[in-house]
This record gives sequence, structure tokens and C-alpha cells, in this order.
Amino acid sequence: MDQYVLVLNCGSSSIKFAIIEAKTGTAPLHGLAENLGTVSSKFGFNYQNKQHSAELPADASHQQALTVIANTLKKFETLSQQIVAVGHRVVHGGETFTHSSLIDDDVKQAIEQTSLMAPLHNPANLAGINSAQTTFPDLPHVAVFDTAFFQTMPKHAYLYALPYELYQQHHIRRYGFHGSSHYFVAHEAANALKKEFSNCNLITAHLGNGCSIAAIKQGKAIDTSLGFTPLEGLVMGTRSGDIDPSLPTYLIEQLGYSVDKVSHLLNNESGLLGVSKLSNDCRTLEQEVKEGNQQAKLALDMFIYRLVKYIGSYLAVVGPLDALVFTGGIGENSAYIRENTINQLGHLGFQLDIDKNLEMRFGQSGLISCSSSNPIFAIATNEEWVIAKDAIQFAH
Ligand code: ADP
Repeated sequence: MDQYVLVLNCGSSSIKFAIIEAKTGTAPLHGLAENLGTVSSKFGFNYQNKQHSAELPADASHQQALTVIANTLKKFETLSQQIVAVGHRVVHGGETFTHSSLIDDDVKQAIEQTSLMAPLHNPANLAGINSAQTTFPDLPHVAVFDTAFFQTMPKHAYLYALPYELYQQHHIRRYGFHGSSHYFVAHEAANALKKEFSNCNLITAHLGNGCSIAAIKQGKAIDTSLGFTPLEGLVMGTRSGDIDPSLPTYLIEQLGYSVDKVSHLLNNESGLLGVSKLSNDCRTLEQEVKEGNQQAKLALDMFIYRLVKYIGSYLAVVGPLDALVFTGGIGENSAYIRENTINQLGHLGFQLDIDKNLEMRFGQSGLISCSSSNPIFAIATNEEWVIAKDAIQFAH
């Protein structure tokens, strides 16, 4: 009999769910409750590629949304009866969680303790866990952490060059995020190369609204671009990525910004959106570039330039490379970003197959480099499958 896992991703105002078949990663049923806690709360789901909507009260809470999800599952009884575990995406596992964990009171307490470092995410993840345990009391609930894959980073890579007590007393260090995605595409690349994962040196670039890049040496993550929070590193949709750390003090002291305003600026008003003054959406910007919009071109040029710099620096630390992998909405779909990135890396042994690059999109995965190049893959990520595979280990 097939075994399915209910995968939940609870954000501050949304709950994404998917029923994942653990062997194949397929999702016959998935959906989204969004705008929770506002008048425009809504819920939609997709069953075998057909979209449906269902009633969700205005101002719906996480608990109400989960009840609607549970009622939706009841309509698909045969499928629901085959659910053997619930997997929860938890953004921050701090240094406590190097692997996925069966959720008990101690695990919940540890997630709560990490909330200080992920105030937007962990409390919402925890609220989702509590509601889901009430709604699905008979299933094992498993926490899968975005940070866990990066717990293999060596100290010289994860520490900031700050007074050491800040690390000892306040756990201030780099953690990395998008771990399940990097883990998934790295394993897919190793499979495609027919190599043992533990023998692979890879660079994986997850480019979505949030972006991160990881250096994986001999199957272990040794560096990644997101840091203490998901703000460091690459240029993102609305996040700045790397800046001079003195800038926030300058904005506060010289330009009179409040702390909140600085935080909002760096997280929500920067990146592709801030530079282009148009959109955080890569598709919109690519279209604008075609129509001659120079500001959109500047935003994408900066996005690409930062990515090229990171690939170069990770090449230096990862050793002889087995493959470079693109994933995430942009990495999987944007031939423009891939082509303009790789065009700057010819002298480091990368060359695209132009036709394969143009074809590889919309959920396809495969090699996009020509035979003389270091292998370059575009791989459709499937974080839900990683969560499902981990969760099913704890099924009765
Ligand atoms: P999130 O980080 O929110 O999960 P996604 O991984 O879905 O985001 O990525 C969203 C990004 O992917 C957006 O910038 C979007 O424009 C981009 N994207 C999606 N499809 C395409 C495409 N066909 N061409 C270029 N960019 C695309």
C-alpha cells in the first residue's frame, strides 16, 4: 500500500499543505490557506491537477484553517486513510537540531527557545504544530528544520568575526536556510552523475524570492550564503543580501530611520524590487529588460553579478567541482539568469548548451551544460518530499 505524509508549512499568515507519496514525491492533493487573521482569508486546494476553493471564515485563525484542511482531507477518504505521519517545516532549528525530530514537549520547547532568532517564522511554525496535533492527534508529528543541513559547516565558516562571547552566550553565528532544498537538489545531482553523494563536490544555488547558495564538499555542507537570519548573501526579491554592516547605523544616526524602518527596508523594500523600483518578480523584470527598461536591467545585472561572485568564491573552497546546480523559481525557470551568469564563468570551465538551457523549465530537471563544461544542472526542487521522507521514518 502507498504511504502518504501530510506536509505542513505554517507561516505567520498562511498554511501550505501537501499530501506527499513518500516513495515518489508526488502530491495528489495540495493547497494553501492564506491571509489568515485578515478579512480576506481564503483557502484553495488542488486535487489531481484540478483547482478547487472552499469556505474559510474571515479572520480565520491557524486552528480554523487546519480544521478546514482536515475537513478537506475527509472528502478524499481513501487517500486520507493512507496518511501515516505529519511533517512540519520548521525554519530555525538553532544548534540543537542537526536532524529531523519526532515532536514532543522538549522539541517544542527547543523550537520556542529558537524563536528569538526567527521571530517571524518559528512562532508561526509552533502555532501550526500545536493546532495540527489537536487536529490530527493519532499521527506522529515530525519537525524538519531548514537549518539542519548546514549544521555540518565548520566553525571557521559559520562564525562571524565578532567577540567570541556573542557566539558563546547568544548563539550569534551563521545558520543557513533552505536546507531541505539544497539537500534535495544536491542528491538529485549526485544521482544524475551516478556518484556517491559522499564523494561529490557541489555548488547549489536556490534562487526564488529568497535566494541562497551552498558549497557542498564530499557530501557535506561547508558554507552557505544565508546567515544568522535569511537576509545575508545574494540579492533577493525584496531582501538586500550583503551590505556594509555600518549602513544600518548610518541610516539610523544620520538619516533618522527607526530600527523598524531599517529592518523593513532591508527585508521588504530592497533587492530586485528596491533597485528596479518596479517589481520583485524576475519574470516581470525580464520582460521589462526586453522592452528596454534600464533600471530593470540594472537590478538583474546586480543579481547576476553577486551570484557570479559567490560561485567563484565557493569554487575556491569546495575543491574539484562535480556540478553546479540551479533551483528555485528563478533557477529552475529563468534561462536568462542562467545564461547571463554562466557567460561570466567561461574562464572557470563553465559553458552552457544554449538549447538545453532554453528548454529546461516548468518542472523539468536535467543537464544544461555542453560536454566540455563542468556539469551544470537545473533541477526542480521538492522540499516537501524531503520533509515527507524524514517524517515517514517515525511512522508506526
Ligand atoms: P519562493 O522563494 O517564494 O518559494 P519561488 O521559488 O516560487 O519563490 O520563486 C519565485 C521567483 O521565481 C519569482 O521571482 C518569479 O518571477 C521566478 N520565476 C518563476 N517562473 C519564472 C520564469 N518562467 N522565468 C523567470 N523567473 C521565473
